[in-house]
Amino acid sequence: ARKFFVGGNWKCNGTVKSNEELVKVLNAAEVPGTDVVEVVVAPAAGHFPQVLSSLRKDFSVAAQNCWVKKGGAFTGELSAEMLKDLGLPWVVLGHSERRHIIGESDEFIADKVAYALGQGLGVIYCIGEKLEEREAGNTMAVNARQMQALADKISDWSKVVVAYEPVWAIGTGKVASPAQAQEVHDELRKWLSANVSPEVAEATRIIYGGSVTAANCGELAGCPDIDGFLVGGASLKPEFVDIIKAAE
Ligand code: 13P
Repeated sequence: ARKFFVGGNWKCNGTVKSNEELVKVLNAAEVPGTDVVEVVVAPAAGHFPQVLSSLRKDFSVAAQNCWVKKGGAFTGELSAEMLKDLGLPWVVLGHSERRHIIGESDEFIADKVAYALGQGLGVIYCIGEKLEEREAGNTMAVNARQMQALADKISDWSKVVVAYEPVWAIGTGKVASPAQAQEVHDELRKWLSANVSPEVAEATRIIYGGSVTAANCGELAGCPDIDGFLVGGASLKPEFVDIIKAAE
């Protein structure tokens, strides 16, 4: 069985003070054990030391991005080696904000994932279609293209969590319906089965992201192919605790 996975993507938010308050809430929360749910939060890089030292140890810390290869003369970047050295077990790669605002390509992201996995990091690999792509009937073509870019570069999927985040649902309040999300998750699992292996399809967690809240997470969590969530806005609030509890 796939262990439920709940990630909180704090994006480019937070102050030392607001982090302190959020961590206090998370540390006091009564949530299902690590046998039931894996919880990972991704603060902004400057806040890593604060969150690493203060957050409860049954939750892990992720980076929101990393460099594509070994560190060196790459101003402004953070290498996978640095994340490992700091004690961060996870990195989010391929987030739509990096694909579409920063302009990272499928291939560049896949290279990042391959490199990060090679360093022993776990990767939350984000994919998802834009509204115009969905409306043109290209939802699965776009998601399959983003999956194929990764499949071309890696063979070991054991440390990959796939996050399906339809771009039209991110930060918009327009959550995918359980039926819409389940349909894509089911197709992604079939894609993995056909193009990687049935074993990888069965074992890989496919989580949903895009306007997840305490109010809508229960129904989504009930879908057979939704193995957790990647939460943006609501992960900055006490509400994140209720989303973690959807694992039960
Ligand atoms: P929101 O939950 O704010 O829609 O963001 C989702 C997201 O992008 C998580 O990575």
